[in-house]
Amino acid sequence: MNLIILGPQGSGKGTQARLLADSLGLFHFESGDFLREVAKADPKIDEIINKKGELFPDQEIFALVTKYLEEKLPNLENFILDGYPRSVWQYEVLKNWLAQKGRKLNWAIYLTLSQEESITRITARRTCEKCDRVYNLVTNPPPTLDRCECGGRLLQREDDTPEVVKKRLEIYQKITVPLIEVLKKDSILLTINGEQPIEAILKEIVATIA
Ligand SMILES: [Zn+2]
Repeated sequence: MNLIILGPQGSGKGTQARLLADSLGLFHFESGDFLREVAKADPKIDEIINKKGELFPDQEIFALVTKYLEEKLPNLENFILDGYPRSVWQYEVLKNWLAQKGRKLNWAIYLTLSQEESITRITARRTCEKCDRVYNLVTNPPPTLDRCECGGRLLQREDDTPEVVKKRLEIYQKITVPLIEVLKKDSILLTINGEQPIEAILKEIVATIA
């Protein structure tokens, strides 16, 4: 079973990807972590992503992701991809590449969340300055309001303001809405209400794809 998972910031797709990987025995690929690791090992890539702040070219991400997947998972079966593909182009090339290997994507799980709820959740995010642990004042509160379990101070990221979150959501919508349409046409789209509790979402996904 090969899955991809999509959803706006705050939809909990990272959490669901981890839970699904555990409960279904899937290889979990997270594109953000992956690109950070790649940038650490390659100064040229680090320059583009972290110094110039540019997006990495689609063609090159595709080459890196597919090379990595084939190394980690030679038979290309039983994986969940989180954060990739996120555009129609990325999806189409991945689909064609898998088809050449005799493989396919079985489901694209799409977690929905209203803009209002997305902003509420993201602006409630707090990170410990000492251990980097992430809390959420709404969905995953710390033991005390301004302190981590380790005693460190909890801070809000500078770009987690409603204005910046709104802009990020608009960009996300512009890129992702066309992809959702294509996934629907390919009959692999599974839309799930991301405003339910974590356990309910997981249960619904597993019951549908099983
Ligand atoms: Zn801490």
